[in-house]
Amino acid sequence: MSDDILLTPGPTPLPPQVREAMGRQIIHHRTSAYRACFKRALQGMQQAMQTNNAVVCFTSSGTGAMEAAVVNLLSPGDTAIVVLGGKFAERWQSLCQAYGMTTVTVPVAYGDAVDPQQIALALQAHPQAKAVLTTLSETSTGVVYDIEAIAAITRKTNTVLVVDAISGLLADACETDKWGVDVVVTGSQKGLMLPPGLAFMSVSERAWALVEQSKTPRFYTDLRLYKKSLADDDTPFTSAVPIVVALDEALKLVQQRGVVGMIERCALMAKATRAAAQALGLELFSKRPSNGVTAIKVPAGVDGKQLVKSMYDKSHVMVAGGQGEMAGKIFRFAHMGYISPEDVLAGLRALESALTELGYKFTAGASVKAAQAVFGQALVGAAR
Ligand SMILES: *Cc1c(COP(=O)(O)O)cnc(C)c1O
Repeated sequence: MSDDILLTPGPTPLPPQVREAMGRQIIHHRTSAYRACFKRALQGMQQAMQTNNAVVCFTSSGTGAMEAAVVNLLSPGDTAIVVLGGKFAERWQSLCQAYGMTTVTVPVAYGDAVDPQQIALALQAHPQAKAVLTTLSETSTGVVYDIEAIAAITRKTNTVLVVDAISGLLADACETDKWGVDVVVTGSQKGLMLPPGLAFMSVSERAWALVEQSKTPRFYTDLRLYKKSLADDDTPFTSAVPIVVALDEALKLVQQRGVVGMIERCALMAKATRAAAQALGLELFSKRPSNGVTAIKVPAGVDGKQLVKSMYDKSHVMVAGGQGEMAGKIFRFAHMGYISPEDVLAGLRALESALTELGYKFTAGASVKAAQAVFGQALVGAAR
């Protein structure tokens, strides 16, 4: 339905210029016109990822880049430290298990942020670990980790830091080079405002050294092939041409708003959403909330699955429920990518309507009023 409002942590709504680009006649991927577009897009991605490191582009969902990181950096039998604080962190562990790596886990309660000192201790106990695998924004719990502090620890060791910024990029700060993050992976359908289908990975010099050493069998995701093609602004296999052309357009929007501007915009949506939830007497789930997604506890007596379903059925607003153990206990209201204050307000009206239907008591209009107050203050601030 074209009038659905997606307040989900992927896919996110498409800006008009991206939709227009997706509808254009295709160009061939081995032409100079395409190479120029691909080159510009990857330079734009370096800016978005705040790095001068090479950025590799895969035709896959975000998980494809996570898999590429595991198989290219690690060999079977190698040790990786996995920060285990949500469903997406568990994916790092599953990938390592699938390819025969040993994982040492740093457990983090759902909703909490990892204490960087726990990672320092794990590194002291397992100095042979080749990589720390963690997440910028743990989308399943709405928590953003302090990657700057984590990188300050890994930088002093021989262990590379690999960060899943699939939902975090352009919503929360990710200063790859300044902080010293070796590998960042991301995907197209979240903060980048594109359809699903592209994944990206930035690779530092230290990480390239591991790529050369890895003994894990790999073919489609073999970074050595991508590195060779990159020299000619090319890809080893057929590019997802329309999405790359659309990426080029999306990155123009990122440039107009600026990376910091994009992040501040998400932060404002997040602040308004948190204020709105509190005005309804709802509790936030995350101890260190991300800018991209707000995880809210389902109030006692309300069926969480029904809440999400009712918002969609009655108002065409889609939010995400809880995953795994959090199913039915939380819902996740995303505000990353091409989301406006109007979308957030529409989402809150849908939430109030669903809560009323499910018998929850609150002051009608309180969430919209609280969010509008946050947006209003921002306008006053912007006018000054
Ligand atoms: C969405 C998401 C993924 C998975 O990406 P896919 O594109 O579905 O493969 C992984 N990690 C995080 C943090 C995510 O938000």
